[in-house]
Amino acid sequence: MLHWQQAEGKRHAMVGLTPPPGGSFRALCGAEVTVRRTDILELGGHWFDPTCLACETAWLSGAGSPFRARTPGPR
Ligand SMILES: [Zn+2]
Repeated sequence: MLHWQQAEGKRHAMVGLTPPPGGSFRALCGAEVTVRRTDILELGGHWFDPTCLACETAWLSGAGSPFRARTPGPR
């Protein structure tokens, strides 16, 4: 499902499972980004990075998206 994941200095939106540290994913904005351990909350990471505006725009403009009513943000 669609959710936010921090990677490479921004908080991107992504579909599917968060990859393990060192893994990469295709963000909603189209960027291919790599996740570090410090990007993953479950592994002690922190969400200090700004939201990727391209991802936010893509998320909010998702026509008919079942996620549209959700408030962007971690948890
Ligand atoms: Zn993005």
